[in-house]
Amino acid sequence: MADLNTDVRFIKGIGEKKALALNKLGVFSLYDLVSFFPRRYEDRTKFRLIGETLDGETACIRAIVADTPRLMRIRRGMELVKFRAVDESGSVDITYFNKNYVKDNLNRGDQVCFFGRIECKGVRRSMVNPVYEHEDSGKGVTGRIVPVYRMTAGLNQRTITQAVRQGLDACGEQLPEALPESVRERQKLVQARYAYENIHFPADFGTLELARRRLIFEELFVLSCALNDLRHKRDNDDGLKLPAADFEEFWRTLPFAPTGAQRRAVAEAAADMCGGRAMSRLVQGDVGSGKTLVAAALIWFTQRAGYTSAFMAPTEILAEQHFVTLSGFLAPLGLRIGKLTGAMSAKEKREVKAALKNGEIDLIVGTHALFSEDVEYRDLGLVVTDEQHRFGVGQRAALIGKGTRPHVLVMSATPIPRTLALILYGDLDVSIIDELPPGRQKVDTFAVDESYRARLNGFIRKLVGEGRQVFVVCPMVEENEELATPLKSAEEHAAALREEFPELRVACVHGRMKPKDKDAVMRAFAAGESDILVSTTVIEVGVDVPNAALMIVENAERFGLSQLHQLRGRVGRGKHKSWCILVSDSDSEETRARLEVMCKTNDGFQIAEKDLQLRGPGDFFGSRQHGLPEMHVADLGADMNVLQEAQKEAKLLLESDPGLRLPEHAALRERVEKLLEKSASGWN
Ligand code: ADP
Ligand code: MG
Repeated sequence: MADLNTDVRFIKGIGEKKALALNKLGVFSLYDLVSFFPRRYEDRTKFRLIGETLDGETACIRAIVADTPRLMRIRRGMELVKFRAVDESGSVDITYFNKNYVKDNLNRGDQVCFFGRIECKGVRRSMVNPVYEHEDSGKGVTGRIVPVYRMTAGLNQRTITQAVRQGLDACGEQLPEALPESVRERQKLVQARYAYENIHFPADFGTLELARRRLIFEELFVLSCALNDLRHKRDNDDGLKLPAADFEEFWRTLPFAPTGAQRRAVAEAAADMCGGRAMSRLVQGDVGSGKTLVAAALIWFTQRAGYTSAFMAPTEILAEQHFVTLSGFLAPLGLRIGKLTGAMSAKEKREVKAALKNGEIDLIVGTHALFSEDVEYRDLGLVVTDEQHRFGVGQRAALIGKGTRPHVLVMSATPIPRTLALILYGDLDVSIIDELPPGRQKVDTFAVDESYRARLNGFIRKLVGEGRQVFVVCPMVEENEELATPLKSAEEHAAALREEFPELRVACVHGRMKPKDKDAVMRAFAAGESDILVSTTVIEVGVDVPNAALMIVENAERFGLSQLHQLRGRVGRGKHKSWCILVSDSDSEETRARLEVMCKTNDGFQIAEKDLQLRGPGDFFGSRQHGLPEMHVADLGADMNVLQEAQKEAKLLLESDPGLRLPEHAALRERVEKLLEKSASGWN
């Protein structure tokens, strides 16, 4: 008797070779096989009269073979079978290439269903290599919704379809029900057996939808349970328990009052740090929302308790900026602050490392150098990472390994809709800074096309004349990319600008430069040594140039909204009125709509939500090493509301049965464990 663990070789028609091909698709057991969902479907439900079909239409027809199929040899290695088929409305010429067996299978007078593409030349209709079956043959390749599977060499659709059919027949009854009955009822979801049957072989589109909804929910529910489980495990990790403090003491030292959102984020993090468990918290805030201050408050808090903090930045130049900013907040309070970057001399590094080891430093700011092996910490209590997606998870882990479970605060300037954040950052708790410090100027934003070029150049001239600086961003051109309209590469565009503005200093950074050279150009720009900085998106993060008052984005249609928002955040950081100009010649309606969003709002979260609606989650997932488990049916963008429901149900269930220990949850627990196992090396 076959069960779900049986090897696919068990299936009739699947020999060694085909089994290996299926393995390539990730299908090993019968369970894998029935979980190998179609990629799409072909609607072969509607039969058409031959005489009513149109040129280019893909159609099912029910016809009679009108003459004896003839085998013809055109040349060596090229044979074809030809015949005519008719129904009461007309006739069609049918040809099969190199399928001689058709001649033996079809006889004059047979009732046959054909499915394929119709071609019309004048009044003559023809079909080439259509799918066929005798009426009542029961093969089910016409007259229904037909699944289309992902393919690989050595297999074809028919083989997979028949294998899945056999798999379902052999052990469909044994499919475990991973969803608790109460959840299924509340969410009005069909049973597992029904869903698996109908995701492959739906009777109609309504049934397919029922199956799909159930399976999407199941997938997201299992994922939500897994994430909750990670969080739960972490909740049981002992961490440093810091004594409570009155943050007013810290706030009083500032030249301004913290925003409500900053206070809230600090309070949330402090509660974690006093709770006796290791904190893993993500602080998300729009550009300019004042995340650094939140970090500073917590670093102060850590130091008061007698522990060291480490602050990691993704580049040297950002590390330096943070060093300066944090020193500004914390040095007056007596904190001893050090810096460790690759650019420092060996002697400087040695000294800092010795100081760290001896506990003479309260805060160390640096780059990756912070977690090289020879750096030893005395009492590391807090690790802050800026823009964490630039860090590999392994690097973060390496630093955490240097303390006895230090608290971890991750700061991200990419606003992500909350639901998505829960998934993307897996087991992190999330604080959101959704408020900007008072008196912030709005960056005025305009979307223009090439016809504005002359005016734009005039504007650059005027602003630089007033002493301001200008960012120009060009999209990164992917290698091997073929484009209908050429993109402006950063280097070419810089050359053009030098020609246009011989009197101005135009600098350029792009992805192919060495990090050291990039840093040097950025540094010079920050120091006011150039007027215009042309770059690819490599400058997306962080660097503060308060004197920059204009951001120009070329080929703006190539950027996601969230990315554009990040770029815009590079200006308006000083006292000067600032602008953002989005240049695009695209006349796609979608692009227009997106750029319009940018012109209308400065709110990063609103923009992120819109981006998610307009483009799906690709922008959030694609560019980042999120390493989420691959979704079989769910599309995280389109199925957002299902995700929310799934998260809600998962939370509810785990509150009543934290470890999923109840026997009725065994099937679910198994799925969750499998997912966690699979992902142990990958995501989170
Ligand atoms: P983010 O890193 O979130 O983009 P920063 O931490 O760099 O933002 O802060 C942006 C600017 O706002 C800095 O110059 C900072 O000193 C200032 N700032 C932060 N919090 C406040 C506040 N509550 N009131 C006024 N200015 C603030
Ligand atoms: Mg910042």
